[in-house]
Amino acid sequence: MSQYDVDLFVIGGGSGGVRAGRIAAEHGARVAIAEADRWGGTCVIRGCVPKKLFVYASEVSRAIDDARGQGWTIEGATFDWPTLVAGKDREIARLSAAYADRLRRAKAEVIEGRATLVDPHTLELAGGRRVTAGTVLVAVGGTPRRPPGDWITSDEAFHLPALPARLVIHGGGYIAVEFAHIFAGLGVAVTLIHREPLPLRGFDPEVREEAAIGLRAHGVDELGGFDVAERTETGVVVRDRETGDTRAIAAEIAMTALGRRPMTTELGLEACGVALDANGFISVDEWSRTNVPNIYAVGDVTGRVALTPIAIREGHAFADTVFGGRPTSITHDLIPTAVFAQPAIATVGLTEPDARARGDVRVFRARFKSMRYALTGRVEHVLIKVIVRASDDVVVGLHVVGPDAPEIVQAAAIAITMGAKKSDLDRTFAMHPTTAEELVLLR
Ligand code: NDP
Repeated sequence: MSQYDVDLFVIGGGSGGVRAGRIAAEHGARVAIAEADRWGGTCVIRGCVPKKLFVYASEVSRAIDDARGQGWTIEGATFDWPTLVAGKDREIARLSAAYADRLRRAKAEVIEGRATLVDPHTLELAGGRRVTAGTVLVAVGGTPRRPPGDWITSDEAFHLPALPARLVIHGGGYIAVEFAHIFAGLGVAVTLIHREPLPLRGFDPEVREEAAIGLRAHGVDELGGFDVAERTETGVVVRDRETGDTRAIAAEIAMTALGRRPMTTELGLEACGVALDANGFISVDEWSRTNVPNIYAVGDVTGRVALTPIAIREGHAFADTVFGGRPTSITHDLIPTAVFAQPAIATVGLTEPDARARGDVRVFRARFKSMRYALTGRVEHVLIKVIVRASDDVVVGLHVVGPDAPEIVQAAAIAITMGAKKSDLDRTFAMHPTTAEELVLLR
């Protein structure tokens, strides 16, 4: 019998913590897991899941527009925001309960409330109870960075009492772009302000261009190369970074999406000597181990890659390593990722500039009008771009913008992870007519 109350104490019931706790318990560990808010974490409660539900709802306005050219008359279509919010809340409640239930079925002790570290092996719970643990996993995630002033973040955007007529969004990353499309599709006049000339820094340059085109085509007033100078009572004042000119933009609500910070304060990490980086993220090695040997961390709190499937993989690898007798380290290569814009963006592997920096490449691309819109009058292009390492013909990057891009890239990512060569794409039969067939027809 171990000298500790439990073998593993997990702080945080989000994607990474829940997976780690469940797998460790299935490996036979005695597990306790604490969550201070709601089970499911960012992804389930205020991230991927509600966002995707909003994307689906928002896309309906496009479908209605497109339907006209296909012979439909749709009269009197109206949208009710409270219905969407309530439906989303019901689905989140269902998922959140399922997360906790799954843990209980795995025989983990499920603790609702905050847990803080007193020392590397002791946790204090709300109410004063203390639990000792052989291993501690910190999986507390992150929270939006908030500038001073009257700004909402994505957290509040999910619960607005009513849709505004005009909304300003500051930021050019995933959240800013996705929410600009969501609200534009729901009929809000959206202005998107970001400091780079193009949104989505870090993505392939051609994808970024398509992202800007897509935003404008969706009616978003996309202002690249601007700073926010001031939040006023009636909106914001923006400043052109090149000319210094300022301009006032009216909006009832201003939303900020400037990245996220880790929730590492008041956890007792400092008292235990856990090393944080300059931005407060927990520093870990490829085993997700901190500098304190029995304390590990996974997910957004580590600042590695802030994506749900990565947190899940990290949590699972941790549990297999520490409790399953299967050492599994984590590398963060070839991560497929999607921005659920309208049209969607998805990518796996290297951008063209990154690939070129590593050696000679061949680049194949197709940019075409999707058949989906042939009758609708919608002017929207699909981009499929494949980057191939010249030395051995291996596909090192795939970038798709267009309907179903995330579905296409997720499937293609299997082949790319297996080391597919361009010649493998070439010998794959096309499925006609599809968007994805262009992937095997690029010459
Ligand atoms: P991102 O890191 O994606 O984007 C942050 C944006 O804020 C960038 O455009 C950045 O500009 C800008 N920014 C940062 N600081 C400043 C500043 N001081 N002044 C002006 N602009 C600034 O963060 P998000 O908040 O959008 O999302 C957080 C993370 O959550 C994402 O990185 C992603 O990992 C994850 N996520 C994933 C989603 C998905 O998988 N579909 C959806 C939503 C979130 P610049 O580029 O110039 O630095």
